[in-house]
Amino acid sequence: MGTRRHRTLSGGSDGPQVDGWLRFDPETEAQFEAEAGEARAYHLRYIVWFGLCLYNIYNITGALLTPDIIVTALILRIGVVTTISLSLAWAVVHLSAFWRERLALLGMINAHLLPSVLFAVTRAEFGAYTFGELTLTLVYGNMLMALRFRHAAVFTAVALAITLTALMLKPGVPLHLEIALAVQIVTAGIFSLSANYLMERRRCLDYVTALTATHRAERAEVSHRHLTEMSQTDALTGLPNRRYLDDRLAVWCAGPNRVATLMIDVDDFKLYNDSLGHPAGDDCLRQLAQVFRNALPDNGAFCARFGGEEFVIALQDAPAGVAQQLARRIVTDVRALAIAHPGRGDSTAIVTVSVGLAAAAAHEPANPGTLIAQSDASLYAAKRAGRNRIETYRPPVPRAAGFA
Ligand code: GH3
Ligand code: MG
Ligand code: MG
Repeated sequence: MGTRRHRTLSGGSDGPQVDGWLRFDPETEAQFEAEAGEARAYHLRYIVWFGLCLYNIYNITGALLTPDIIVTALILRIGVVTTISLSLAWAVVHLSAFWRERLALLGMINAHLLPSVLFAVTRAEFGAYTFGELTLTLVYGNMLMALRFRHAAVFTAVALAITLTALMLKPGVPLHLEIALAVQIVTAGIFSLSANYLMERRRCLDYVTALTATHRAERAEVSHRHLTEMSQTDALTGLPNRRYLDDRLAVWCAGPNRVATLMIDVDDFKLYNDSLGHPAGDDCLRQLAQVFRNALPDNGAFCARFGGEEFVIALQDAPAGVAQQLARRIVTDVRALAIAHPGRGDSTAIVTVSVGLAAAAAHEPANPGTLIAQSDASLYAAKRAGRNRIETYRPPVPRAAGFA
């Protein structure tokens, strides 16, 4: 199957497109069908019912103007065209768009063929007056049924060919009347097809505009999410950054759950950089970040880079002891990595971390700044105590009142 070439009427080269025959590109067509196909099918069904009611009113004009063929006309109009059209109205909501639109076209050709044949074969005195009916099927097919423009063009061409043939074959029509009727039917065809084109063009362009706007909004949403994610991520380690930490802690502390923070600092990291260089230091930070990430429990806890070689793990609603356990695991896991630290002045020749832990008291409102300050104070207590260890923040015991 060859690919359809689109002489673009509207739409950018990468967006939804519609060509000069008012056909969408295949992807847009599928999307339009998914959104509007059902409504279109029901429109066709109702408009066929409506059209048949009026179509059969012409049995009355048939009886008045063409009494010589009224029995044949009744049989064909009711028995054939109406029956076929009712079957189409039933089928139309069960068919694919491809068959639905083509059967609508065939139904219209069928509906136009009958009055043309009756016009040609009647020998009744006023039989030529039924000609007006033929312009109405054009108006109905092109404007009420709103055949797709390319189908409307086919219908108009076929209907005009049938009508002009019937006009030529009908005996006894004087030439000047033949010419006048031909002009009438051709102009009716041009008018109704032009109206069809304008309606269909509006439908297609409106849809392309709406779809383009939706695509733009989706792209803007994706890039907004991406930017938000970037603005909350540390570039070196891929961990959440300080901004994310501040935002989340503010939310958590405002909630009812108990919040705990672990401030982690790499021991003697300046000496690591000094002895192995900053690129090696960066690499070390990335490895440590992975250790912290792996140690996180599955309850929304996260680890953020606080700045430099300092990290904060935040825990929410963790049972007592979980934060302690996590802090121990982190110190142990970092030690187990055994990253060589040749520049250290003490006897430990590997990278280690110190951790300061603080937790808000249960059922008491927490303050992010206080929590971080308490974790920081504990961290420095761990440093003072020799590094490579954990310290937990304990609130100062109020001094007992002395005797006077
Ligand atoms: P302490 O055990 O007391 O924490 O000693 P320290 O040397 O780790 O602490 P100090 O604050 O003196 O030094 C921190 C070092 O961390 C200094 C700085 O160059 C290094 N650092 C901070 N951010 C980065 C980074 O992104 N990459 C690298 N390679 N080094 C960093
Ligand atoms: Mg530090
Ligand atoms: Mg340090």
